[in-house]
Amino acid sequence: MKAAVIVVDMINDFVTGTLKCERASRIIPNIQRLLDFARKRKIPIIYVNDAHLPGVDKEFDVWPSHAVVGTKGAEIIDELKPAKGDYVLQKRRYSAFFETGLDQILRDLKADTLVLVGLVTNICIQHTAADAFFRGYRIIVAEDGVEAPTEEDQKSSLKYLKTVYGCEITTVNELIKRGLS
Ligand code: ZN
Repeated sequence: MKAAVIVVDMINDFVTGTLKCERASRIIPNIQRLLDFARKRKIPIIYVNDAHLPGVDKEFDVWPSHAVVGTKGAEIIDELKPAKGDYVLQKRRYSAFFETGLDQILRDLKADTLVLVGLVTNICIQHTAADAFFRGYRIIVAEDGVEAPTEEDQKSSLKYLKTVYGCEITTVNELIKRGLS
């Protein structure tokens, strides 16, 4: 079993910007701890971030403009900046797998287990988990490393992730305690 940590959409527009998730601040120190631990253990970290092209991206039929390539809003938040050796991919849809090359990197790394953290639980995390499930990955979701717009969204999405995709729902401390396996 080999794990990789997938950090989804911890970018300015979702934490402090145009599509701010009011509850996001709570998860930042938890993700920091998880990433520090993963780097020490040489467990791969892959950031996958919204990076939209203005004018053409279908998401803008549904959402206000956000995470436009080249803007401050599309940058990873200062607290979670990538370190040397981390991977950073861009996405233009909810799923971290959709036309991003993520699956190929994971296969090259021989990773079979994904630890999902980031924003937001009931949209991009949930679509990423769906695609991971379809591809046969084991999926772990740190419930204190993901957040949704409301408590209700968070709870119902975690339940869905567990029952529909077989995700293991745990905490950052528990993952660190058992060595991220
Ligand atoms: Zn988007």
